[in-house]
Amino acid sequence: MKAAVLTEIRKMAIQDIDKPVVQSGQVLIKIDYVGICGSDVHYYEHGRIGDFVVKEPIILGHECSGTVVEKGEGVKNLRVGDRVVPEPGYACNKCAFCKSGKYNLCEEMIFMATPPVDGSFCEYISYPADMVFKLPENVSTKEGALIEPLAIGIYAAQRGGVFPGSKVLVLGAGCIGLVTMLACKAYGASQVIITDVLDNRLKAADNMGADFTVNTSQKDLHALIADITDDMGMDVVIDCVGISPTINDAVDNCKKGGSIVLVGMGSDGNVSINLNRAISKEIDFTTIFRYRNIFPTALKMVSDGKIDIKNIISHSFDFEDIAGAMEFVMNNKEKVVKAIVKMNKTSAR
Ligand SMILES: [Zn+2]
Ligand SMILES: [Zn+2]
Repeated sequence: MKAAVLTEIRKMAIQDIDKPVVQSGQVLIKIDYVGICGSDVHYYEHGRIGDFVVKEPIILGHECSGTVVEKGEGVKNLRVGDRVVPEPGYACNKCAFCKSGKYNLCEEMIFMATPPVDGSFCEYISYPADMVFKLPENVSTKEGALIEPLAIGIYAAQRGGVFPGSKVLVLGAGCIGLVTMLACKAYGASQVIITDVLDNRLKAADNMGADFTVNTSQKDLHALIADITDDMGMDVVIDCVGISPTINDAVDNCKKGGSIVLVGMGSDGNVSINLNRAISKEIDFTTIFRYRNIFPTALKMVSDGKIDIKNIISHSFDFEDIAGAMEFVMNNKEKVVKAIVKMNKTSAR
């Protein structure tokens, strides 16, 4: 089968490799669409993210969808021909974290496109069937490839305690900021303000239903929030950037007793924050790491029309052009909201 292999930094080539053999409990999935994630671009450009270092050639890509073409022994939840989305990590189900239900924190997590584990920029993957979800009839395979980033937004909204009537501030209007905004609106937030320093991202946010967009390099965010909340501040603030200025915007604009969810991992992770201000407001801080048990919810929300996810796609590429696609996305980070790769000529709808 064909696979796009990252052979060294900024060198990706389509190679012929062995097609995976489906194991017991697994399904063989013909990949239809794969989204290009910020992490893929980071590995492509730098060969590492923090402690995860690319040491051997690797197949990137983890935001994928496809069609089941073969079943391993014992698989009961899926049929050949089902259009599906695999959750890109599977856990050991044995460690203390798995047993406590927090499988996303598993010590033995095997996560696609995180070295040394291969991802899905290839024709087929074989994957544990219990982590593969059938797409509802009215959800396209293309939308299926967007479920993974959406899951992060939904998890962030849940952890922040967003409920009907909440006033929410989302910092950062990249892909994750946008899916977070969509999730907050779907959970009934009455006002969602989203910020960025790039107007094209704010325009996308506007088109996707933001109540207010603020370019923080030009406008006074605090004044707007004071105005619309009678000086109270926002109930929930979700930071999708992860740098000192946004963390302090979060603290400054969070209501007393409100909650802040930290999603973005910016630069090296060192931030400075005015702790006194945060403590005197008795702010609840939460973080999220990937997601757990969210894919079924995400699929249902898209299927029910509560979230319209497809408009997040800003660029599309064919698998044959994947090397050019990676280079383009790397060089146009400010323009690209979400790039998606069509993996074969006959990709399911
Ligand atoms: Zn991703
Ligand atoms: Zn585990």
